[in-house]
Amino acid sequence: AVLTHESSQQVVVIGTGYVGLGTVALLAHLGHRVTGLDIDAAKIEQLRRGEVPIYEPGLASLLAQQADRVHWTTDYAVVAQADVIFICVGTPPGPGGAPDLEFITGAAVGIAPHLSDRSQVLVNKSTVPIGTGDFVQRLLEEHSPHFDETRHFVVSNPEFLREGTALGDSLYPDRIVMGGAPEGVARLTALYAPLIEQTFAPPAETPRPESYLRPGVVGTTLQSAEMIKYAANAFLALKISFANEIAGLCERVGADIQEVATGIGADARIGPRFLQAGLGWGGSCFGKDTQGLISAGREYGYPMPILQAAIDVNYRQRQVVIEKLQRHLKTLKGKRIAVLGMAFKPNTDDLRDAPAHDLIQRLHAMEASVVAHDPVAMPRARREWPHLTYTEAPDPASALRRADAVVIATEWDEYRGLDWPALLLTMRRPLIIDARNVLRSPLLAQIEQFGREGPSSPAETVH
Ligand code: NAD
Repeated sequence: AVLTHESSQQVVVIGTGYVGLGTVALLAHLGHRVTGLDIDAAKIEQLRRGEVPIYEPGLASLLAQQADRVHWTTDYAVVAQADVIFICVGTPPGPGGAPDLEFITGAAVGIAPHLSDRSQVLVNKSTVPIGTGDFVQRLLEEHSPHFDETRHFVVSNPEFLREGTALGDSLYPDRIVMGGAPEGVARLTALYAPLIEQTFAPPAETPRPESYLRPGVVGTTLQSAEMIKYAANAFLALKISFANEIAGLCERVGADIQEVATGIGADARIGPRFLQAGLGWGGSCFGKDTQGLISAGREYGYPMPILQAAIDVNYRQRQVVIEKLQRHLKTLKGKRIAVLGMAFKPNTDDLRDAPAHDLIQRLHAMEASVVAHDPVAMPRARREWPHLTYTEAPDPASALRRADAVVIATEWDEYRGLDWPALLLTMRRPLIIDARNVLRSPLLAQIEQFGREGPSSPAETVH
C-alpha cells in the first residue's frame, strides 16, 4: 500500500495548523517524505517531542505511526530539496473583511530564495482571494534567483477538511480540486495518485466508509479553484442561515423545524445536510470566507445581497438565545446561566468565532453569572478568552447545579447522553435552551414532566 521508492516524493508543508498538520499526516500516510515547517518555534519543538498542538481525533496517532517519514523545522532551507511545497498558513480576516495576506506573503518570501533549479510545484491550500496564486507567483519571481516558469508551477488546491473529522475528510474526500497550468496539475495528480486511486491501507482509527469509492477529481484554472473554495463555503453558510430563517417562522406558526428540515432535505436536489437550525455557524472559515467574498464583490462594484443576508441571519441567532432566556427568566441580572460547550463545534478545541463567546459576553453584560463547561476547549478558552468572565465547571453536572437555565451551545456527544431528568432536579429552574437541537423530542417530553413552570414549556428548544 505504501508508495514505491520512485514514486515517493519529498514534500514541505508550510504552516502546521489544522490544515498543515492534516496535510502532513495525509501525505506521510500515502508514503511521501514530509517536512512540516512553521515560524512558531514553540510549536515545532512540541511536534518534535511528539506532541500535537491541536485537538483533532486520530491525528496524534497517525503522525506517530509515520514518525520515520516526518520531520519538523523552522528553517526554509529544506525547500531546496522539495519536489512539492504546500502553503497552509492562516489567512485571517483583515479590518475590512478581506483576508489578510501577511502570512501568505511571508511564506512566499520565505520559500523564494530556496527554490532550486529542479522542477518544483508550489501548492496553495490556504483559502485565498481570487488572484492570490498569481500574486504568489510574482513574489517568487521577484525574490528567487532560480524561478523559471517552465520548471516551477503554482497550483491552487483548496482544502475542504472539517475540524473534528479532518483525517476522514482528507483520506476519503468527496472531491479534489486542482487549479493551474496543466503540468503543475499533472504533478500534483501524481503526488495524490494513491489518494485518487484509494490504494493506501486505511489507518485503523480512520477506516474507509463502506459506501466510499474514490474522490472526484476537478481540474480547473487557478482562479476557478480559488473561487470554488469560497463559493462552497458560502453555499454551506447560506444553507444553515436558510434553515435558521425558516426555523424562526416555524416557531411562530407552530411548525417543527426538525420535521421541516427532514422533509425538504429528502429532496435529492436539496440534500439533508447543513439544514440544522440553531445557534448558527461559527469557526474560522464561514464568517471569514463569506466576508471575503463580499469584500471581493465590493472591490468590483458588485453587491452580494444573498450572502449579506446569510451573515445577518447567522448573527441574529446568537441574540435569539438571549431573547428566549429573557422570555422565561425576565431579567437576567443575578441569574446563574450554565453554558455547555465553548468550541464552535464538537470534536475540536477551535474557538475562533465560536457563538459561545458572544453568548457569554452578552450574558455577562446583562449581569448574569455564567458557568461554562467544555470537554476539550477549556484550557484554550483560558488562554484565548482572558477578557471573558465566567466560572469554569469541571463537568456538566456542576455547571447545572443551582442554575436558572442551561444553554447547550455545542453539540458534544456527551451532552446528548447526560441523565437530563436527574440533572434538571439539581437546577434552580428546569430551563434548557437547546441551541443545537441535540435532545430528541421523546426526551424533551420526559423533561417537561419535571417542569415547575406550569404549562408553558420549561424545556425550550431554540431553533
Ligand atoms: P492555523 O492558524 O491553525 O495555522 C496556520 C499556521 O501557519 C500557524 O501555525 C502559523 O504559525 C503558521 N505560519 C504563519 N505564517 C507562517 C510562515 N510565514 N511560515 C511558516 N508558517 C507560518 O490555520 P488553519 O486553520 O490551519 O488554516 C490555514 C488555511 O486553511 C486558512 O487559509 C484557512 O482558511 C484554510 N482552511 C482552514 C480549514 C479549517 O478547518 N481550519 C479548512 C479549510 C481551509
